[in-house]
Amino acid sequence: MRPVYYDFHIHTALSPCADNDMTPNDIVGMAILGGLDAIAITDHNTIGNVAAVIKAAENAEKQHGRPLLVLPGIEVSTAEEVHVLCLFADIEDAISFDADLSSFYSIMPNREDIFGSQIIFNENDEKIKVMERMLIAPTSISFDSLHALTDEHNGAFIPAHIDRDSFSVISNLGFLPPHLKIKTVEVTQKGIEKNNNTYTDNFSKHNIITSSDAHQLWTINDKENFIQLPEVSANLIIDFLR
Ligand SMILES: [Zn+2]
Ligand SMILES: [Zn+2]
Repeated sequence: MRPVYYDFHIHTALSPCADNDMTPNDIVGMAILGGLDAIAITDHNTIGNVAAVIKAAENAEKQHGRPLLVLPGIEVSTAEEVHVLCLFADIEDAISFDADLSSFYSIMPNREDIFGSQIIFNENDEKIKVMERMLIAPTSISFDSLHALTDEHNGAFIPAHIDRDSFSVISNLGFLPPHLKIKTVEVTQKGIEKNNNTYTDNFSKHNIITSSDAHQLWTINDKENFIQLPEVSANLIIDFLR
């Protein structure tokens, strides 16, 4: 077994609330500088920049010989406004999941002047286009249905920042629905520090992961959190999380 240093909650410039310099190559560069083995790209309600970040990591490895595993992901806001990280082992699963989820996406147009811009890049950090629909708006899929859909597409369903007072399963539903098979929950770094053993006690049967939820380049994690696996592999990571 070896430690796999990770940050499984990173936004790109496609998320309206993220900095516009959250580009594929800058994210990959920061993650490699920080010594990470694996990251996940998790924009709000879209996988629009995932493929570009995966290609940027592949190009970086060709140039410098340093691998960085990029997991396709998405931070879905459910109808109850609960944030959930859905992570996948390969891009095909993420694409088919996104296709099924698309009928639940809000069709309201973004207000760039209020919420910020939503930029789609290619793997060379060139701006391809701006996404029109408002990504900050919740989807219309329920927490339970999102769990089923994620499972159907072989993904890991991870309730995000469960210690936060808003947009979390605990704040909005009051508890983790016991009838759903949920193996992993995300607690923020602050939540871990503030509450000592509260989460490890209450969620002792779960994996607890902590990621940056980075919206700025400098907040991407260094070698802070790890999981133990035989090797760095997308399938092993998703098997561990789901
Ligand atoms: Zn969130
Ligand atoms: Zn987030």
